[in-house]
Amino acid sequence: MRVMAPPVFRPAWAEVDLGAVADNLRAVKAAAGGAEVWAVVKADGYGHGAERVARAALAAGASGLAVAMVEEAVVLREAGIDVPILLLSEPPAEAMGEVVARRLVATLYSHTALEALGREAAAGPQPLAVQVKLDTGMHRVGATFEDALAVAVSVQRHPRLTLDGVWTHLAVADEPARADFTTGQCSRFDRFCEALGDAGVRPRMRHVANSAGVLLAGATYDMVRVGIALYGYAPNATVAVPVDLRPALSLVARVVQVKELDAGDRLSYGLRYRLAERSVVATVPLGYADGVPRRLSEVGGQVLVGGQRRPLAGTVTMDQLLVDCGPRATVQPGDEVVLLGRQGDEEITADDWATRLDTISYEILCGIGPRVPRVYRR
Ligand SMILES: *Cc1c(COP(=O)(O)O)cnc(C)c1O
Repeated sequence: MRVMAPPVFRPAWAEVDLGAVADNLRAVKAAAGGAEVWAVVKADGYGHGAERVARAALAAGASGLAVAMVEEAVVLREAGIDVPILLLSEPPAEAMGEVVARRLVATLYSHTALEALGREAAAGPQPLAVQVKLDTGMHRVGATFEDALAVAVSVQRHPRLTLDGVWTHLAVADEPARADFTTGQCSRFDRFCEALGDAGVRPRMRHVANSAGVLLAGATYDMVRVGIALYGYAPNATVAVPVDLRPALSLVARVVQVKELDAGDRLSYGLRYRLAERSVVATVPLGYADGVPRRLSEVGGQVLVGGQRRPLAGTVTMDQLLVDCGPRATVQPGDEVVLLGRQGDEEITADDWATRLDTISYEILCGIGPRVPRVYRR
């Protein structure tokens, strides 16, 4: 049976520049001073499409991939990607059979999970690589010093497991003003690595850095786990990074309707936007169900039409939004509207939305929903 892709009619899409992904990966790699770079492609590659981003990053020099969950890794394996995939969270006991069958690199931070994985690994063809995570101060997931040491020792002794790595995660690496906390986390990690050495445990790699860890804190160790920088954004919109990054994703749609309305006319749900003068208003087929935050219009959100910034006019609805194109604008149905990306000399970035909405680019990018088709450009 042939499975046909469903047809796409709606004139709205996210354009992903895989050349930008590759350039960003190479820029981070150059800054990582010989450490391996693993591409973090959780949450469908931060909304960019995990499989395509993974392939672009691997072709540009990434040594492996990282995802949050077993389910995300399975999708990549089903797509035929056979490089190492690190699971950034400890898999539930019920998932360990899948971890073994798919040869995923599980992160462990409990004896319970170690036992569950050890049992499943007994049936596997070769010893399975696993990593152990230490909590050095973020207090999200990870083992205490003593537990991490004990789990690592058990892994090393296990006949069916090998200790591929030990790692930790930084809480404020994107805030240079709090560098002391990051240094403290790295020192705790260093002491842990020493204790491992004293116990005769030799992990293949040690790593601590996310994008901020490598680009702002210089905490490269043997490997860096790079997410946001791969997609072209600095981890913190207010702090410049020492490499050139280029946003990979543009969000684009075509105008579906144009109307000229009178001064005093009010628009969209709640009639919250009032035209100050007779103006041309364009309807664009993207809404909050696609990841354009409903509140964006209230905080001065803009789009690009005809190479110019134009304000969102009224509340963003589920499937559509309105744009105030101003008096006598020549906009036509079918014209391209850029919500994120460049048009002419202007650019709107996810940092621009994030700053207005008091969030971070990560949340904007991950929020672009599955209803928006992804189109790939090299
Ligand atoms: C998401 C994640 C990363 C990637 O972080 P970026 O800031 O996007 O580079 C790295 N490590 C862990 C544990 C993560 O959860």
